[in-house]
Amino acid sequence: MIFVHPRSDHDHKGGPRSHLQTGFVEIQSHMCTACGICVDECPKGVIGQVRLFRHAHAHIDRAELCIGCRKCVKACPHQAIVESAQPGCLQVQVK
Ligand code: SF4
Ligand code: SF4
Repeated sequence: MIFVHPRSDHDHKGGPRSHLQTGFVEIQSHMCTACGICVDECPKGVIGQVRLFRHAHAHIDRAELCIGCRKCVKACPHQAIVESAQPGCLQVQVK
């Protein structure tokens, strides 16, 4: 596990960033019902949705725009978005 600044486009090995977290919040996709409330609540257009057959959940479209207001955390009726353990950093799994 390494930590990457949210404004960086890639981790230090050049891999893409997670689509489930910004530097401030993290989507627990297994708890998400894809209701879309967080998409509407986010003032910066950070959050989008995956909508595939039997696979639908919120995901992070533009992590670099997240300002950490946590409106999404408060709005989610299923506690599927939580504050990041290390605010200001992204957690990236390195294989
Ligand atoms: S913390 Fe604020 S800016 Fe960031 S994703 Fe949530 S609602 Fe959007
Ligand atoms: S508000 Fe919660 S349950 Fe609804 S789409 Fe967002 S993360 Fe998923």
